[in-house]
Amino acid sequence: MTEYRIAVLPGDGIGPEITAVATAVLQQLTAAHGGISLDLRHQDAGAGRWLREGVAFTDEAYDACVRSDAILMGAIGLPEARHPDGREVNGDVIFRLRFDLDLYAGIRPVRSWPGLTSPLSAAPPVDYVVVRENVEGLYASRTGGCNVRDEVATDTIVITATGTRKVSEQAFRLAGKRGGRPRDGRRLVTCVDKANVLSSYAFFRQVFDQVAAEHPDIGADHVYVDAMTAYQVQQPDMFDVVVAENMFGDIISDLAAATVGGLGLAASGDIGDRHGLFQPAHGSAPTIAGKGVANPIATVLSAAMMLDWLADRHADPAAAEVARLIDDAVGDVLADGRVLTPDLGGTAGTAQVGEAIIAAAIRRR
Ligand code: ATP
Ligand code: MG
Repeated sequence: MTEYRIAVLPGDGIGPEITAVATAVLQQLTAAHGGISLDLRHQDAGAGRWLREGVAFTDEAYDACVRSDAILMGAIGLPEARHPDGREVNGDVIFRLRFDLDLYAGIRPVRSWPGLTSPLSAAPPVDYVVVRENVEGLYASRTGGCNVRDEVATDTIVITATGTRKVSEQAFRLAGKRGGRPRDGRRLVTCVDKANVLSSYAFFRQVFDQVAAEHPDIGADHVYVDAMTAYQVQQPDMFDVVVAENMFGDIISDLAAATVGGLGLAASGDIGDRHGLFQPAHGSAPTIAGKGVANPIATVLSAAMMLDWLADRHADPAAAEVARLIDDAVGDVLADGRVLTPDLGGTAGTAQVGEAIIAAAIRRR
């Protein structure tokens, strides 16, 4: 039996509540399976620690992340926790992990769930993954590319061949594992850019095309980012895996989440060649913190993604089986519709949803 060491960072706001549910689901279902065991090591990091001790992320907590097999995070940051220059302290944790561990691919799955009404309920089924380049692009400007003078502000977009190649390869690898797009089962990677206007995006597309040529078994196409937003609403079944530069990936993945039931369901993984960090796509939602009403499903699905990623890396079918079980159990709870948090129109609490997921999983075994 393989044991994985998981660094758990519950964080701030609703973070501890939703993380408690995700870790309970992980512990109970790995125990029930019997073929995999998790050593969960909790770390105190984020705005709360910064407010109490003046440091958001100690070297000790960081080292625990580096030494783990994977990192599971709730949500980091509170609006009142800011450095004197206005930057939120959540960057001390998120950016340190993302950049120092080279978590260059942001993976955000988006799919419609049977039984759940959403803005796109009447549209074709949605089941695609956004792969967001995570460490360069326009947001890389924050580390030295911006310049604000009296009347002009400029930012610099950085697209490297290596970075684009790596994130494109992640996208094709993912497409190879999936069942293709809902429309016709075709395996397809779509490059989202603005190659008609900016040469940096034309370069992104050119490198993407080179990687695509190395994967003749998987289709490849391109969509401009403006057209993309319309397709996401009107023809979402045309997508399988979507790859985009950092800022575009950020924007289209938020839109994607909104089309299928909102942030409470949006899982994400930030992965590199050696490390992986899994957390819900939403933030710490301080206005509903402590009330026991936060939707834990995005975090539970992120935990399932973590197991899937471990399964791949370690060729461990047991981890993949538990990941699949968690996913199916979430599907059962959503389809049943009786135990849902208020963001999905229900009246259940955070812990109740967790219990319903575990019960549904046990019933499936
Ligand atoms: P960040 O800056 O960290 O991205 P944000 O300002 O975008 O944070 P979120 O914390 O993501 O905000 O939350 C925005 C709103 O969405 C919250 O106020 C809350 O109403 C809702 N929300 C987010 N996550 C959840 C959740 N898990 N369950 C229920 N509602 C949620
Ligand atoms: Mg946000």
